[in-house]
Amino acid sequence: MAVRDNSGAVLDLIRSAGIISRVELAQHSGLTEASISRIVKLLIADGLVAETGRGTSTGGKRPTLLELNRSARHAVGIYLSNYRTRFVLTDLSGRVVAHSESPTGIVDHRRSEAVREATTIISALLTAAQVSRESLLGIGIAVPGRQEVNRYLQSTQPEDWTEWDWASIQQDFAEGTGMWVSIENDSTCGAIGEFWISRAPAARDLAVVTMASGIGFGLITDGDVYRGATSNVGELGHVVVDANGPECECGSRGCLELYASPGRIVQRALTDDILAGRLALSGDAASLWADYERIAIAAANDDEGARAVIVHAAHMLSVALVSITNILDLERVVLTGPALDHVGALVAETVRAELAERAFARNVHTIDVRVSDSGRDAAAVGAASLVIHQRLGATRRDRAGSSSSTDLSAAV
Ligand SMILES: [Zn+2]
Repeated sequence: MAVRDNSGAVLDLIRSAGIISRVELAQHSGLTEASISRIVKLLIADGLVAETGRGTSTGGKRPTLLELNRSARHAVGIYLSNYRTRFVLTDLSGRVVAHSESPTGIVDHRRSEAVREATTIISALLTAAQVSRESLLGIGIAVPGRQEVNRYLQSTQPEDWTEWDWASIQQDFAEGTGMWVSIENDSTCGAIGEFWISRAPAARDLAVVTMASGIGFGLITDGDVYRGATSNVGELGHVVVDANGPECECGSRGCLELYASPGRIVQRALTDDILAGRLALSGDAASLWADYERIAIAAANDDEGARAVIVHAAHMLSVALVSITNILDLERVVLTGPALDHVGALVAETVRAELAERAFARNVHTIDVRVSDSGRDAAAVGAASLVIHQRLGATRRDRAGSSSSTDLSAAV
């Protein structure tokens, strides 16, 4: 394989290791030390990797250690959800150096307005973090799955449900900002973000559950994300948890989202007049997220009624996750997403206990259930990480061929 084809893999080994020597890179990659030396030389010349002191000797000379030069490049991640838009600026390691949030989402405005807003916010983030535009690799956009967007828009904007079509979003953001733009399913982005930030080794499988207005599932296997046939992967929310349950708008019955999405959690809380009164829930569709947050905060503060509603949702999530872990023999499940802002620990505790009791492989190994540190930023950070992955590959190709500088220098 050519040097440039392996450089992305070597860069990824350096990312997941944190600090590593050339000898260790050769051991882990299966490449010769001579190949590693050539690749590392190019990565250092590109400013992507830096030498950082010397390790301990294993007989000969003490090896020079390498690490990512994290401030060498940056990427913007945008999570375009139904009700809000989250912006992050990350360095090469996926660390967030600036972030911002807009209270408008797909539901609230048109695509052209979203592009204008993004242009302004990206400029503000670059200024706030004192990051030069030239170091930006591009913009990654996380959006709900294609199928979900289309279904949602068909019901709410039947006259123009192609408004948030993926190809149109990607094209408009690329034209509006003059930058490289990648777009990907939010659950998939959540998984990539967790993989990147947690420095998970490429060899280890990682499953990420994203709790937002819907419930998504992302799977990283062998260092790459599982995308499915049509990027409609990860619809954990439409896994059936009660075969005789109510009809779901997806056409099935008893789907997880009917029990565990923020909307359904609010509905369940509203059936309890005393709880709804105590938490001053409005029950108004436009205040769904505010109502949900009241329940989540109350549950985190040990309000018994609110806690019972959240635990019920977490129990239904566990029912779905027992099936998923039985199929995939998962070792680690990471929970993330804005719906877990206040109740991550409570949901994780419930899921952990139920998997320990019912997962098929429970006597062979425990299943590590944890809440992501990235929380609300997971999908946006994942979108930025996706760009880093793709662009660093492109940088290598461009070295041998055409220039990549044009789309990096354009105005944001
Ligand atoms: Zn469904």
